[in-house]
Amino acid sequence: MAETKYIFVTGGVASSLGKGIISSSIGKLLQARGYNITIQKFDPYINIDPGTLNPYEHGECYVTVDGHEADLDLGHYERFTGIQTTKANNLTTGRIYKSVIDKERRGDYLGKTIQVIPHITDEIKRNVKLLGQKYHYDFVITEIGGTVGDIESLPYLESIRQLKWELGKNALCVHLTYVPYLAAAKELKTKPTQHSVKELQSVGIQPDILVLRSEHPLNDNIRRKVANFCNVDFEAVVQSVDMPTIYEVPIRMQEQGLDATILKKMGESVGETPSLGPWRQFLERRHKAKEVVNIGLVGKYDLQDAYKSILESLSQAGTYNDYKVKATFINSEKLNEENAEEKIKDMDGIVICPGFGQRGIEGKIIAAHYTRVHNIPTFGICLGMQMMVIEFARNVLGYEDANSTEMDEKTEYNVIDIMEDQKNITNMGGTMRLGAYECILKQGSRVFEIYKKEHIQERHRHRYEFNNDYEKEYEKAGMNCVGRNPESDLVEIVEVPGLKWYIGTQFHPEYSSTVLKPHPLFVDFVKTAIENKSSKK
Ligand code: GLN
Repeated sequence: MAETKYIFVTGGVASSLGKGIISSSIGKLLQARGYNITIQKFDPYINIDPGTLNPYEHGECYVTVDGHEADLDLGHYERFTGIQTTKANNLTTGRIYKSVIDKERRGDYLGKTIQVIPHITDEIKRNVKLLGQKYHYDFVITEIGGTVGDIESLPYLESIRQLKWELGKNALCVHLTYVPYLAAAKELKTKPTQHSVKELQSVGIQPDILVLRSEHPLNDNIRRKVANFCNVDFEAVVQSVDMPTIYEVPIRMQEQGLDATILKKMGESVGETPSLGPWRQFLERRHKAKEVVNIGLVGKYDLQDAYKSILESLSQAGTYNDYKVKATFINSEKLNEENAEEKIKDMDGIVICPGFGQRGIEGKIIAAHYTRVHNIPTFGICLGMQMMVIEFARNVLGYEDANSTEMDEKTEYNVIDIMEDQKNITNMGGTMRLGAYECILKQGSRVFEIYKKEHIQERHRHRYEFNNDYEKEYEKAGMNCVGRNPESDLVEIVEVPGLKWYIGTQFHPEYSSTVLKPHPLFVDFVKTAIENKSSKK
């Protein structure tokens, strides 16, 4: 394609309608037609990135291969399209302002008064186009965080208005809204959608396509009414009804011709509808899987979004094992010696989740102990791996006081310690060991068997690490260091051979598991949990 085309995805009426899923689905459908695409997210908050945000604020922090702490929607983009994102795929108002202020300090604006319009909007526009220009994408899909009508969203909407004007057919706006069902009146209500579109129109944007989220199917009359009231073609009013799995959404969008409508509106020839074969096979397998394997997630946030990528990785791995994964949250703060058995015994496998800080770590250590002693498949991720290491020191090596210096600076047995190059860092944002690093797996280890190769690359997000001074003692006592970084010699993976599955990774494999390429560690972990379940029968 000669010129890059820009698709904007905005949202109205309410947040959490699934703009990320719609953006990912559009990306998936265009990709299936052979187009070169990327998806980016612009978030209207002032933090530079979500790295310093509490998961209760904004869910999981996703990490890109190039070490950017990103919005969790980038996880959806990667899981749907299999295309890796980078720092350039996620911007925030904070980063936009920072860049403008840095330029102002350098004197780049030659004495001008710096204003939201044009300086902030120009910077937004420059960033919208950056990826397209650099990599010559056919389509750049830009999801705008927040909801139309928020004060914070205004500069983004003004930028879209300008870009639509400048780019003509090469820019298009998909607006996602909500059609509530009033049970008392037994009616679906389009008024909120009309208002939301009016809001967009009031800032000069006419949406080209409307995606209506609803819990109930919408009939043609409702779609026609919305089309009429909102100046949108009937065929460009698409519905997105609740699905048993988010991975159904691209199929439902394709059935309604969302991708074809986009192409037509942007002046591209439509061609044949792609079959989405492997995607459909995945869904078919997913629907056929009836038996359930129970996985307990030990962590301190009782909020689904906080462990989004782990949940998705587990559920994908379930499908590839022809099982349904039922993930049960086990609050690590409430886990103690007395109730551990009752909370864990019925689980076929346990994931000990990542995290930061003191809260809930003793519960994670108790879980690691229970599962090791009772031989329940256990997957420790990042802080989870560190807690497995601490548990082993306390209960096998006999170092009762063993800890991570993150939790107890004065511990005599600092089996998890701060990395040398982290010691003098005072800024919290963006300064951890972040992004993909190489790891070499030990031949003969369980992980080597799982990955079936020696060299792997996995994404990181941590400051603390296994203390190599203790390695020999661990190995002698039966916990092996089976993956390490070739340059820094940092330990990346520990495992206890002989147990069904007791593996801890310092990295986050959940960030790189996608629908069509599930992560081998998750697939093997779930497989072992299923075997564990069967052996109990
Ligand atoms: N808090 C631990 C560290 O900084 C683990 C981080 C994590 O689980 N992502 O090393």
